[in-house]
Amino acid sequence: MADDSVERLQQQFEAEAPSARTPAEIKALRDKWLGRKNGALTELVKSIASKQPAERQSLGAASNALKKLAEQILDAQLANALAAAPPRDALDVTLPARRPALGRRHPLTQVRERVEDIFMAMGYQVISGPEIEDDWHNFEALNMPAEHPARDMQDTLYLSSPVPVPDGGRAATLLRTHTSGMQIRYMEQHEPPVRIIAPGRVYRRDQFDATHTPMFTQVEGLVVDEGISLGDLKGTLNAFAEEFFDARVATRFRPSFFPYTEPSAELDVECQGCSGRGCHLCKHTGWIEILGCGMVHPAVFDAVGYDSTRFTGFAFGMGIERLALRLYGVDDIRMFYENDLRFLEQVSL
Ligand SMILES: [Zn+2]
Repeated sequence: MADDSVERLQQQFEAEAPSARTPAEIKALRDKWLGRKNGALTELVKSIASKQPAERQSLGAASNALKKLAEQILDAQLANALAAAPPRDALDVTLPARRPALGRRHPLTQVRERVEDIFMAMGYQVISGPEIEDDWHNFEALNMPAEHPARDMQDTLYLSSPVPVPDGGRAATLLRTHTSGMQIRYMEQHEPPVRIIAPGRVYRRDQFDATHTPMFTQVEGLVVDEGISLGDLKGTLNAFAEEFFDARVATRFRPSFFPYTEPSAELDVECQGCSGRGCHLCKHTGWIEILGCGMVHPAVFDAVGYDSTRFTGFAFGMGIERLALRLYGVDDIRMFYENDLRFLEQVSL
């Protein structure tokens, strides 16, 4: 009987099916039974056409039912197999671990720390102070009384409410335009000898362009003692330039003007980009200005109560962004503030 053959095939299939456990074994079983070529149940269905018409109907129904049952069983087994054991290639424990992305210090922080390290090695103390400053520390005590034309050199950002001062008046507050106020704050609290640097943020009403930012970073330096001379200033800053650029760089001191130093100078170093021959970084002069400096003006000592007939000293101030531009050969200061990781990952000491 035809039904007998369907029944035998079903028994055979049901005996074989449980042993197929992996996706590959299930696929092999599916090919054997349901494959388009030579699948046992495919052959069974094909054979119906050659049967007697009386047999066809019942045989056709039985064999189609078996085929459907076999598909359901194989589908269920495959689903179980995939759920129980994900494909081997989903987790390869021999692959090297993915390296976590490491953060790093910002280039400007790295430059500031480099400056600090050089001066600390020379025995300087690193101090810090308020970014909101009063008129006395930012201007007046630095030999820039009200109406002094030098105040116009710095576009000051004033805060709206003046603060009470000890003598009963009210003083203007502002965002400090330079770190030089820290000279005053330190000397008010300490007697000579003084040997400090004061790094910090300063603010000016400037455009945000390739060479200016309304906020930038300065490092102030101050040395006071008996017998400090211009020679000490030059020797100290030459040694700094050599350490900072890690090379024997040519330097030159150019006369300049600051109200709180006399004489005043600017320190230029030979351009690292062209070795002094001239390029776009140095505007074809072969020299790059890195800091302003000078001998402390006696009026500044008078303002803090130091004896200006006994003590002398020198002060200097440098912009961290400017130094970073020189060091990295970058020509747009804004790159340090835009936090583009492609840039930040490239510039590293
Ligand atoms: Zn150059």
